[in-house]
Amino acid sequence: TKYVYDFADGNKDMKDLLGGKGANLAEMTNLGLPVPPGFTITTEACRAYLRDGRQPDELAEQVSEHLSALEQTMGKRLGQSDDPLLVSVRSGAKFSMPGMMETVLNVGLNDESVHGLAEQAGSGRFAWDSYRRLIQMFGKTVLGIDGDHFEDAIDAAKSAAGVENDVDLTEEHLRALVETFKQVVRDHADRDFPQEPREQMDMAVHAVFDSWNTERAVLYRRQERIPSDLGTAVNIVAMVFGNLGMDSGTGVAFTRDPASGAQGIYGDYLQNAQGEDVVAGIRNTVPLADLEKLDKKSYDELLGIMQTLEEHYLDLCDIEFTIERGKLWMLQTRVGKRTAGAAFRIALQLVDQGLIDMDEALSRVTGAQLAQLMFPQFDAKAKRKKIAKGMNASPGAAVGKVVFDSYTAVKWSRSGEDVILVRRETNPDDLNGMIAAKGILTSRGGKTSHAAVVARGMGKTCVCGAEALDVNTKQRVLRVRQGPHGHEETIEIHEGDVISIDGTSGDVFLGEVPVVDSPVARYFEDGTLSEDDDLVVAVDRIMRHADGARRMAVRANVDTAEDAARARRYGAQGIGLCRTEHMFLGERRELVERLILADTDAESEKMLAELLPLQREDFIGIFEAMDGLPVTIRLLDPPLHEFLPNITDLSVRVAVAEARGEKRENDLRMLQAVHKLHEQNPMLGLRGVRLGVVIPGLFQMQSRAILEAAAQRIKAGGVPRVEIMVPLVANVQEFETVKHDIADVAAEVRAETGTHLEFLVGTMIELPRAALTADQIAESAEFFSFGTNDLTQTTWGFSRDDVEAAFFSAYLEKGIFGISPFETIDAPGVGELVRIGAEKGRARRDGLKLGICGEHGGDPDSVHFFEKIGLDYVSCSPFRIPVARLEAGRSML
Ligand code: PEP
Ligand code: MG
Repeated sequence: TKYVYDFADGNKDMKDLLGGKGANLAEMTNLGLPVPPGFTITTEACRAYLRDGRQPDELAEQVSEHLSALEQTMGKRLGQSDDPLLVSVRSGAKFSMPGMMETVLNVGLNDESVHGLAEQAGSGRFAWDSYRRLIQMFGKTVLGIDGDHFEDAIDAAKSAAGVENDVDLTEEHLRALVETFKQVVRDHADRDFPQEPREQMDMAVHAVFDSWNTERAVLYRRQERIPSDLGTAVNIVAMVFGNLGMDSGTGVAFTRDPASGAQGIYGDYLQNAQGEDVVAGIRNTVPLADLEKLDKKSYDELLGIMQTLEEHYLDLCDIEFTIERGKLWMLQTRVGKRTAGAAFRIALQLVDQGLIDMDEALSRVTGAQLAQLMFPQFDAKAKRKKIAKGMNASPGAAVGKVVFDSYTAVKWSRSGEDVILVRRETNPDDLNGMIAAKGILTSRGGKTSHAAVVARGMGKTCVCGAEALDVNTKQRVLRVRQGPHGHEETIEIHEGDVISIDGTSGDVFLGEVPVVDSPVARYFEDGTLSEDDDLVVAVDRIMRHADGARRMAVRANVDTAEDAARARRYGAQGIGLCRTEHMFLGERRELVERLILADTDAESEKMLAELLPLQREDFIGIFEAMDGLPVTIRLLDPPLHEFLPNITDLSVRVAVAEARGEKRENDLRMLQAVHKLHEQNPMLGLRGVRLGVVIPGLFQMQSRAILEAAAQRIKAGGVPRVEIMVPLVANVQEFETVKHDIADVAAEVRAETGTHLEFLVGTMIELPRAALTADQIAESAEFFSFGTNDLTQTTWGFSRDDVEAAFFSAYLEKGIFGISPFETIDAPGVGELVRIGAEKGRARRDGLKLGICGEHGGDPDSVHFFEKIGLDYVSCSPFRIPVARLEAGRSML
């Protein structure tokens, strides 16, 4: 097996094997761009290492070959004492996981080669600083020593020397620091810092492999839905130095603004700095445009390269570069992450520039991004007190209580509080808190800082680098000086105080600012399309293209006329699920209660007669809102006890009354009824079609209300397209019993109203038995709608109401599944039952209409699955309709 690829051997399409970084370094090398030479150890080697607990046998030999070639190119050997080749050992998985995995720089330095480096660089200070960085990084990431031990040693060295900044430490100080660091290694790792360069390199490679499975990497993958079995590649790259003086430096850049999509010069540059200094946001950077003044030659070359990359990748690219004494080197590029708004804008800009077509544009946006754009924003008219401005790192409007650490963020959010995580800067250990928070605010670091990159990836509101803020984590207070000159006051914000942050503008406000709808949501709501809002224009054009491309229809799950009208505005092509139980709440609950408690037929008929006109009115409104479009109305589904008072509350009430010597007839009767209907497993009990079989008149009343409403609409000139749906059917006889009753009612209504009523009677397929006997059911049922909520519940045997709390977090943590099967369809299990049901149903009844109305109908991945197995439509809540339309279009690409 070939485990090692030279940069010249790979290309950008080999991400599976070389990881994103390796594949793109290879691509840039082959484009003739200035990439330091190096090679990539494949993800396959990593997987083998993680599987077997040791590296594959051939690897060492292959690495030696490629290392020799690299040494030949560079004209020096790894760690050579008079002129050492130094390398960086960098992680790089298929999908970018910013800051999640390890990198070790300056590998090859030891007690001897540090002198050679000093000689070659003409700076002893530089060499000893590089050496202490190696021991520090190696100690932390390879030997697993707590980074604080090194930080403390640096602090001690600084105070002993009487200086404030790292850069003020002299060569002598750094030499001493290296000795201290080596002692730290001895004390905490029980070994000496390895002097042998190749041993350093091999250990670093293994540490990168291992970093695939660190807690934070696992958590990040789960958040981003990155498969856990890919492994990471490792890139060994000849070191170039951005910290050789003021004519050196390092930076990051984007070919377009990742927040807005606008073309221009975006990035940050830091003079005399190495490696991750920029991304870590430790020192404040200058805007990339300033590089022109500092080093015009490198700046012009960089701009040329950025142009080349955009034209080559036909997309926004982000890059990392280093300038070593006036010589520009490209360390990384990739198709850059961007905000949801920028994704839509850039896709359309590229179309208008003639670089990509509309299909390609459609493939570059996602339903998740569209959902994000429908998030609310701050009300522009509301009063607010602005206390600071930072960088608009990730859009959205977030309001919450200030917390200063990840632990508190998680704790408070678990108890239902909205929190804003406030940090000087974030690091990968803050990930849990970032996930739990509504928004993230930092006082340091640019748009490429850890906080910004991770927040954008999660679609979480983030303002970073708000320098006016003084964040004191220990005292748990945030201070900011404000007011006109001479009248400044210091505002103190304590943990638990509310602030509002605007990730679109970068503004930070004291207190709660009210939030309003987004323009994209408004566009869907009423079709408002202002030509000068390029985002709405982009969304509109891409949505039109998606609608033209998709095969599946999109319907809505709604049960009021109002929601039906909204769903229609959002593009719903009918109702896929109207849950009639939602019509029995509120004041009507009492009627249902009395129906359940009725002792005599006469009494229950009376209650049904009272419910009938109420239901009819509901349906008239819905048919009107959806005139001309299909409306699937489902007969009553939930267990009857849901309409009765809680058994414990009622028992207490009766007991208290008895103790007082009172006798409450009604409560007693009610309690008996509740006891009678009480079930150990109500979800598996008397519900759905079973109610129709057992409770006389209930389904007939509902069917009558539906059909009378339809008749009335016809008389009024409307076009009601009625589909009556029976829930929780497991067997065809159950279905037929109800279907006969409906036919009887229909004959009566036709005669009474003199209308020629047409309608379909179909069933939910939401039990495994229904899916497996779908051919028999299709003999009688005129359409199917897959209820993937109950089908997931009954296939896995997971109670849909309890699992999330009970054990899903453990399942997710252990990777038993990457995402809840109630959220994204479990394709091989539950999905297979849907496929079987669809196939058997269609085989028996030609053109049988097939839809899905579980929560999965609005989930992007699930929509793609339903397209694959050929369903006619998906149905979801109104707010998800644009997402489903977009993804149904994307599923055709
Ligand atoms: C389902 O089970 O998937 C469904 C749509 O019905 P409900 O959620 O009402 O049980
Ligand atoms: Mg159901």
